[in-house]
Amino acid sequence: MTTFQTHLEFALTQDKKDPLKDFRNQFFIPKHKDGSDSIYFCGNSLGLQPKHTSNYIQEELNDWASLGVEGHTQGEHPWLHYHEFLTEPMAKIVGAKPIEVVIMNTLTANLHLLMASFYKPSSKRYKILIEADAFPSDKYAVESQLRHHGYDDKEGLLLWHSREGEELARYEDLEAILSDQGEEIALVMIGGVNYYTGQFFDLKRITKLGHDYGCMVGFDCAHGAGNVDLQLHASGADFAIWCSYKYLNSGPGSLSGVFVHERHAYNKELNRFTGWWSHNKQTRFKMRDEFDLMPGAEGWQLSNPPILSMAAIRSSLDVFESAGMTNLIEKSKKLTAYFQYLIEALDNSSIRIITPKDPTERGCQLSIQVKNADRSLHKQLMDMGVISDWREPDVIRCAPVPLYNSFEDVFQMVERLKKALN
Ligand SMILES: *Cc1c(COP(=O)(O)O)cnc(C)c1O
Repeated sequence: MTTFQTHLEFALTQDKKDPLKDFRNQFFIPKHKDGSDSIYFCGNSLGLQPKHTSNYIQEELNDWASLGVEGHTQGEHPWLHYHEFLTEPMAKIVGAKPIEVVIMNTLTANLHLLMASFYKPSSKRYKILIEADAFPSDKYAVESQLRHHGYDDKEGLLLWHSREGEELARYEDLEAILSDQGEEIALVMIGGVNYYTGQFFDLKRITKLGHDYGCMVGFDCAHGAGNVDLQLHASGADFAIWCSYKYLNSGPGSLSGVFVHERHAYNKELNRFTGWWSHNKQTRFKMRDEFDLMPGAEGWQLSNPPILSMAAIRSSLDVFESAGMTNLIEKSKKLTAYFQYLIEALDNSSIRIITPKDPTERGCQLSIQVKNADRSLHKQLMDMGVISDWREPDVIRCAPVPLYNSFEDVFQMVERLKKALN
């Protein structure tokens, strides 16, 4: 256990000792207006661009230019099964088996596709349980599923609230909802790491609870993938989804990852929406065959995917492969603990960290609540070259990312925060 210190030399020494320090050079760091590197603490919203991503994309543009349609089979990385290059490294990051993972579509679209399979309401069991401050897109998606199946989206939607005066959700309260109404709940759908508070939920515990009451359980891991040790397979969850543009650094609007637990891999009875890419690869191009469903998560694909976007994902996954998720998490825990230490050392009563203090219950993000806030503190930080993220009503979200943020970044961020508060 490192004992932290408040002076700059401490941060510089930590950076020197950091075995992952060179990875920062593999990323473009946006510049502040004075020409210096910004303090980029926004990887929870849009991860930075690896410098070699343009090469990966250029390779595919070259193959397209020189080979045309033949690129599907003749390219260096044939497009026909390009998504397969991504499966194993992505499965490692989220703690899943390759058969459980596929990259396809975008996040909210995938949430709907998986609810088509895992939200099967009946007259007795039709409710959906989410956390009260779920990401708006997820809330809109589940509400629309309720309406789609003919249910009232207020009556059918159960919210796992934090208690009055608290920000973090408590498991006792989830247990109480399930023990009250578990038999009426068809789907428990929770954000694996809450986007607002940064609370990393115990996926295994929630899954077990849901399953004990006969519910399906899914997680939106947009803020977890590439950030925390998700262990999706071991969690036992029925499904999960995430995007690749936050901690996974694959570019704005890039594709989403999907996890479907192995226990569903060969279940052809499980209803779903299908397209030619969910059809058995061997006979897909005979075109006239009876539909033959592919096993595993791949069986949820619809379309042939956008290769240029997948090239950016391949580039990013190569960085993760060489850094190693275990090493990243180890650094991340130190970096965020140091961040917490420096904020607490400010001893300023107008700010408060609402993210869990227990490192096993959070990823890299700290959400800092600002008393009597308007956006001005956030704007001041921006003017000082700190790129963080403001969430109404009163929270600044800051994510020091172990791949490209340094201890010095954290130090400088808190120095500027101190200035802005005075
Ligand atoms: C970022 C995020 C989204 C965004 O959804 P898109 O479909 O990729 O636009 C949805 N849900 C959560 C929890 C997120 O963090």
